[in-house]
Amino acid sequence: MKENYIPVCRPLLPPADLIADYIRRIDGRRQYTNRGPLVQLLEQRLAARLGHPEHTVRTSASGTSALEVAILAAAGQPDPARPLALVPSFTFAATGLAVERCGYQPYFVDIDPHTWAVDAEALAHHPQLDRVGLIVPVAAYGVMPDMRALEALHAKTGLPVVVDAAAAFEQILDRPDLISETVVLTVSFHATKTFSTGEGGAILWRNADGQDRAVQLANFGFRLGRQSLVGGLNAKMSEYHAAVGLAMLDGFDATRRSYAVASGHYRDTARGTALSGKLHLPPQISSAYAMFETDDQGTFLRAEDRLLAAGVETRRWYEAGLHVQPHFAGCAHDPVPVTDDLCKRLIGLPMAPDLSAADVASVMQALHHVTTCTAVA
Ligand SMILES: *Cc1c(COP(=O)(O)O)cnc(C)c1O
Repeated sequence: MKENYIPVCRPLLPPADLIADYIRRIDGRRQYTNRGPLVQLLEQRLAARLGHPEHTVRTSASGTSALEVAILAAAGQPDPARPLALVPSFTFAATGLAVERCGYQPYFVDIDPHTWAVDAEALAHHPQLDRVGLIVPVAAYGVMPDMRALEALHAKTGLPVVVDAAAAFEQILDRPDLISETVVLTVSFHATKTFSTGEGGAILWRNADGQDRAVQLANFGFRLGRQSLVGGLNAKMSEYHAAVGLAMLDGFDATRRSYAVASGHYRDTARGTALSGKLHLPPQISSAYAMFETDDQGTFLRAEDRLLAAGVETRRWYEAGLHVQPHFAGCAHDPVPVTDDLCKRLIGLPMAPDLSAADVASVMQALHHVTTCTAVA
């Protein structure tokens, strides 16, 4: 059984040989971190690919630290009269943790069932709005929220809006116009994401002053000297991580093609069957995921069991929502029926840039069995 085990996530980062040329540049210079030349080169190349000025991209040590720095740069510490941050419950733990680390109390809100994002217009009229100091929408599974609606929300309420777009790097690459002057985006370069530096992340923001603040905040609040001028943190990407990122960028078109082949296996196997229409695949979502949406919770639990028995690892990437995770259990929240329901119906299926047609066939066969048995029962 073990040799047939199909892991839910099997990232493939650049091999040592391709990273080595960049590492050798570090050896010669002996500058290992603190916005060294490789970090700056990575930012320049990413900005060029996005067609934006160089300051639009600022890297960080992780997606979570990018979010913390972006919140502090856009919103600062909370005004005691406005301690709340509106955050969707439908997300990964890091969103809530980053908000808390910056001094805000997460207040969980629900998502729209079709966009998987918070409803910007509804938030503009949220009953708690006069106690809110920050809004942190999420690009769930890489699906970007309506940025123009979020810009309007910011304009209307005056509240800072920072989007946790951790998994949406590809979506932003394909639509660089989504990068905003007023609404800050953060992405993750974690190994489980499609574009990776091992650990890493970035702030994407068309605001040169804001990005200057972000750089300062990410380096202990230092500006030119060594005095801490504002409450910052150490969120800097190292030269070694930038080396991985530069090698990743060299091969990223090929990486995306490989992921497209893998998701194509899912699409081809589902075509014309009861499973088509229940899969969520790229380009709608990040290439790092393949999601299966069951009709009901009974089928979800049966599918998880059946897949496990077939040696297929699955994942509830967002668990049952943040509002029910032990650490966040004390946080106030709206009723979140869409999150409650969707988290009990969405299964994370295996995905990898080299996922084989045979492995996808095993996954789909197990799913087929469950869904057809449900129909008969
Ligand atoms: C991956 C992810 C993060 C965390 O990013 P790190 O780089 O691991 O810190 C945060 N939020 C969401 C929605 C994610 O998917």
